[in-house]
Amino acid sequence: MFKAIYLTRDADRFDARVASLEESTLPEGDVTLRVEYSTLNYKDGLAIANQAPVVRKWPMVAGIDGAGVVESSSHPAWKAGDHVIVDGWGLGETHWGCLAQKARVKGDWLVRLPATLTSRQAMAIGTAGYTAMLCALALEKQGVEPAQGDILVTGATGGVGSIAISILSAWGYRVVASTGKSAERAYLESLGAADVIDRNELSQPGKPMQKERWAGVVDSVGSHTLANACAQAKYRGVVTACGLAQGMDFAASVAPFILRGVRLIGVDSVMAPLADREQAWARLATDLDRKKLEAITTQASLAEALALAPGILAGTRRGRVVVDVNG
Ligand code: NDP
Repeated sequence: MFKAIYLTRDADRFDARVASLEESTLPEGDVTLRVEYSTLNYKDGLAIANQAPVVRKWPMVAGIDGAGVVESSSHPAWKAGDHVIVDGWGLGETHWGCLAQKARVKGDWLVRLPATLTSRQAMAIGTAGYTAMLCALALEKQGVEPAQGDILVTGATGGVGSIAISILSAWGYRVVASTGKSAERAYLESLGAADVIDRNELSQPGKPMQKERWAGVVDSVGSHTLANACAQAKYRGVVTACGLAQGMDFAASVAPFILRGVRLIGVDSVMAPLADREQAWARLATDLDRKKLEAITTQASLAEALALAPGILAGTRRGRVVVDVNG
């Protein structure tokens, strides 16, 4: 038997609980994992609170990512005892996820845990942190350099935002954090933000072209915030878009793209190719300050994770929640 956050829906009745499940009920896959840590991402909050069509197969074990040890494998790349990370690929959506003590997955989905990271640190980073790194790498690949100007990070106190600030400030960029939580200025500065602005400056409908402010943007918020970020991007600035905490809409104009050569880069973590994942995790292992990571992390058990999920959607918490599935 193993414990898991188990989501069921019968007719119109939805239920989310910690259940004890038989190992024989695990789905198909060529690698069985003993999960050590998982995490609570925004998408897990949506799934556990049944707020959006995240789950597309029922019943479902929640958890879009996990870190742990291979228990058994028929995949040529993996053997019992290997330490691995798995993020996305439909985990917690169409395939049973990792808010559980056991998981069975495809070996092709796995990334080897970098030697300098523990499985707890990997899940303190989680999908949010790995996505923040994909955004930061996209800015780097597009040639954005610290001398070109400020980088805006929206949803700053969230998981993606907190880790993006830590990475980009360590890389020498001047980071401006946009937040709805004015009381968290000291927290954001401790992560490396050089300045903090109120998210209301960005969250209302704005003009199609505005004063040039940003050489680069990491946006996890979407909606008017993303439209304004594009309208305020400098000539040939780069805007990375990965989230929708404010909304999925994007009422923008083409003006910044055709008059300033602004580049809008979409970032997806779920189906990202293995090479991109391995690069992101390798850079997280070398470049992310462990003290900052610990400072943004709180820990929960499976039962506590259930109770924390609504707070994620309300946007009231900060940083990352790592889940000790055996705690
Ligand atoms: P969190 O819940 O940790 O953080 C989201 C932050 O967004 C909040 O802390 C808050 O920050 C801000 N926010 C919340 N509500 C609003 C609102 N109504 N208007 C403006 N800002 C708001 O989530 P994550 O950081 O884990 O994820 C952020 C987004 O990125 C989510 O939409 C998630 O689905 C998406 N995502 C996408 C991925 C991909 O593959 N593309 C992967 C991972 C995440 P503050 O109070 O500081 O303003």
